[in-house]
Amino acid sequence: MSQERDNTMKFQVNHNNKTFMREALEEAKKAYAENEVPVGAVVVYKNRIIAKAYNQKLKSNDFRAHAEVIALNKAQKVIGDWRLNDCDLYVNLEPCVMCAGAILETRIKNVYFGLREVKQGSIVSKLNVLDADLPHKVKYFGGILENESKSLITNFFKKIRKTT
Ligand SMILES: [Zn+2]
Repeated sequence: MSQERDNTMKFQVNHNNKTFMREALEEAKKAYAENEVPVGAVVVYKNRIIAKAYNQKLKSNDFRAHAEVIALNKAQKVIGDWRLNDCDLYVNLEPCVMCAGAILETRIKNVYFGLREVKQGSIVSKLNVLDADLPHKVKYFGGILENESKSLITNFFKKIRKTT
């Protein structure tokens, strides 16, 4: 276990963190309803949500259509700048390597995620992309409303197994 992960686990979740993560979970439920893996993301600027999105990979037949990438892209349009230095990203599942790259590219300030993704999570689980010695540093915090995310994702895969 890395030092960074230890720090993540010591993080004290506040009321705002939970409120914004609940919004990300609401987005994830939209993905669930459309038979997409239930991942939702919101971007917060000055304590206000400026962009929301959910996973649409199947629907759009586009590998880039992860909740995080769509939400970051929407946020850039709202801010009118590709740089999101003063924004935070909330996502209910640990980001993959593509999304971790997008997080770095947009220079987002903080990333808050829910459930750890043991197979390909790229923040703390399989890779530690945000700990790399790169010019831009992004802070990250995991485990926010982790159980809510876990039950949503577990139910989703149960549902998929029943129908296939
Ligand atoms: Zn991703």
